Amino acid sequence: MARKYLIETFGCQMNVHDSERMAGLLEQAGFEPTEDAVDADVVVINTCSVRERAEEKLYTRLGELALIKSEHGHGPIVAVAGCVAQQEGEAILRRSGGIADVIVGTQAIRRLPMLVEQAVEKKGQTGTGIFSRRSRGASEGIPVPIIDLDPFEDVTFPLGVTRRSDPVKAYVTIIEGCNEFCSFCVVPYTRGHERMRPKADILAEVREAAASGRREVQLLGQIVNHYRAPDEPGCDFTGLLEAVHAVPGLDRIRFASPHPRHFPERFLEAMAALPKICRHLHLPVQSGSTRVLEAMRRRYTRESYLDLIGRIRAIVPDVALSTDMIVGFPGESDADFEETLSLTAAVRFHSMFSFKYSPRPNTLAQLRLADDVHEGEKTRRIVALQALQRSIQVELNETLVGGEVEVLVDGASRRRETELSGRTSQNVVVNLPGPAAWIGRLVAVRVERAGPYSVWGLRTDGFDFAPRGA
Ligand code: SF4
Repeated sequence: MARKYLIETFGCQMNVHDSERMAGLLEQAGFEPTEDAVDADVVVINTCSVRERAEEKLYTRLGELALIKSEHGHGPIVAVAGCVAQQEGEAILRRSGGIADVIVGTQAIRRLPMLVEQAVEKKGQTGTGIFSRRSRGASEGIPVPIIDLDPFEDVTFPLGVTRRSDPVKAYVTIIEGCNEFCSFCVVPYTRGHERMRPKADILAEVREAAASGRREVQLLGQIVNHYRAPDEPGCDFTGLLEAVHAVPGLDRIRFASPHPRHFPERFLEAMAALPKICRHLHLPVQSGSTRVLEAMRRRYTRESYLDLIGRIRAIVPDVALSTDMIVGFPGESDADFEETLSLTAAVRFHSMFSFKYSPRPNTLAQLRLADDVHEGEKTRRIVALQALQRSIQVELNETLVGGEVEVLVDGASRRRETELSGRTSQNVVVNLPGPAAWIGRLVAVRVERAGPYSVWGLRTDGFDFAPRGA
C-alpha cells in the first residue's frame, strides 16, 4: 500500500506554489495525497513568518500533531518547511517539545523526499521511535531532527513534477529571494538573495501549464518587475511578459508583486497593448508618509508613489490597483498615519492587505527601532484604515452594477456551494449561479449587486467571451 502525505500551507502564493512543488516531489517518490493527518505517513507544514500570528499557527498545529502521536502511540513523520523553518531551524524543537522530524529550509525543498527517507530510517534504527533520539547540541530530552537549511543557487525546477492544486490557474516562479532589505521584512533572510530563473525554464513551464488546460498563469517573485533573464542578455520583465503572452492556450496573465521603483514606460505600454495581461497591479506602498517610508527603507517617497500612480493610470486607464499597508511602524506619529489615510483616499485602491506592525526576528526594524506605537493605538489606526478602505471598495464595486464584465470562472464560491466564483481582469471577485461545467471558462456576467469584497451577477444569455489563447 502506498504511503500517504499531507501538506498544510500557511502564507503567501509563493508558499502555495512551494507546496505544489513538494507535493509533486513526494508523489514522484511514491507517496499519495490524503486529507487526514491521522492517515498520513508524512505531514508537511509549510510555514510563514511574515507576521507574528502566522508564525504562531505553526506551534498550535505542532501541538495538535503531538496529540495525534501520543494518542495513537505512533504518528506521521512531521516536516516543517517554509520561512519559519529557515529562520528558526533547530530552535523550533525547543518551542514544540521535539515534535518535528524534518526541518527543511526554503531553498532545500527539492531534497524533501530524501530528508523524509532519512527520518524514516532514523526512526527505524532507534526502534522506539524518534522521541528516543538524542545527539550532541540538542537540548536534554529533545530529539534532533533531520535539518537542511542550506542555500541552493539553482532555481530551475524539473518540468512536470509540480502537482498543481488549481485546475484553472497555474503559478510559475520567475524570481526567488530578494535583495531589498526593507527594514520590517524577513524575506531576504528566509528566502535568500535574489536569483532569476532562466527564461527558457519559465517558458517551458508556462507552455506545460497551458497544455494541461490552465487558462491563467500567475508569475511569482518578490519583485517581479526586477526580472532579468540570466539566459538571454537584454531580456527584462517586459520581454518576459511578451514571450509569455505569445504562448498559445492562455487567456490571462497575472503577476505578483511589482515594486514601485521599477516601472519603465516600456512596461506600462506593453501592459496596455497586450490583452491577456490582466488590468490589475498589486503595488505595495506600506505607508503614506515619506518619513515612515524612509524608516522602512522603501526607497521611494509618497510623492514619487503618487506620481507613479498618475503615470500608470494615464497609460493603462482601466487598471485596478491594490496594495499592502502597515500601521503602527516604529515612530509612526498621528500625522504620519493621517498621511496613510490621505494617500488611501487619493489612490482609491480596489483592495488592500493591511496589518499592524509586529517586529520580525533579525530585521533592521527589530534590531534598531523601538516598537513604540502602543498596541491600542495600532488597533485604532487599523480599524480607521480598514473602514476607509471598505467604503472605497463598496463605491468602486457599485460602479459595476448594471454593467457587463468578463469573468474567468475559477471554482465554487466560498459563500454558497450552489454558486460559482471567478474574477474580472481587474481582480474583482464575481459570484454567480451556474453549473461546475463553467469552471475554467470566460463568461459574460451582468452585475446585479455589489458588496465590499465581491459582486454578484448573472451570466448573460447566449454570449461568452471567446478564448484568447488560440
Ligand atoms: Fe520584503 Fe521589501 Fe523584499 Fe518585499 S521588497 S520581499 S517587503 S524586503
